[in-house]
Amino acid sequence: MSTEIRADFDVSNKPHVMLADVPDALPVSTVNSLKLAARKSSSEVCGFITNRYDIVYVKNSHPEPDANFIMDAIDYKRAIEQIYVGEDKIIGVFHTHPGGSPHPSMNDIKGWPNEQLGWRYLIATPDEVYEYQYKNQPAQGAMSGIRIND
Ligand SMILES: [Zn+2]
Repeated sequence: MSTEIRADFDVSNKPHVMLADVPDALPVSTVNSLKLAARKSSSEVCGFITNRYDIVYVKNSHPEPDANFIMDAIDYKRAIEQIYVGEDKIIGVFHTHPGGSPHPSMNDIKGWPNEQLGWRYLIATPDEVYEYQYKNQPAQGAMSGIRIND
C-alpha cells in the first residue's frame, strides 16, 4: 500500500492533508496530459480520472477561476453520466494550479471529496502532478452529498 509523507508546507492549520507518496501510480500519458492542462490554461482546469485513466474535464464555473475552481453543477452531472454510461468508474478528481503551487488551498480543503468515495486527489502544476490524502476528514464537505452507484 501507499505510504504517506508530510507535505513540505505549513500544516499547522491543515494538519490532516498529506502528500501521498504513490510511485508509478499514474500512467505517464495521464500525468503529461494533466501537466499540459495546467500549462495551456491560465484558469484552473478540473475534472475526473477514470479507472481507465481517461481524463474527463468538467467546466470550472468559479467567478475567479485563475486561483479557484468549482465544478459546474450541470457539467458535473454530464461528466458523471458520461463515465458511468460507459461503465467506467471515477477513481480520482483533479484540478490544475496554473501558477505552480503544489499545495491544496484552504478552499480546496473545504471542498475535499468525501473520503468514502475513495477518490484520489490530484493537483497538477505545469511541471508536476501531486497527490494528496486527507486523513481524519471532518464529516462536512462540499462534495459530501454525492452518492455514486457502482
Ligand atoms: Zn487548488
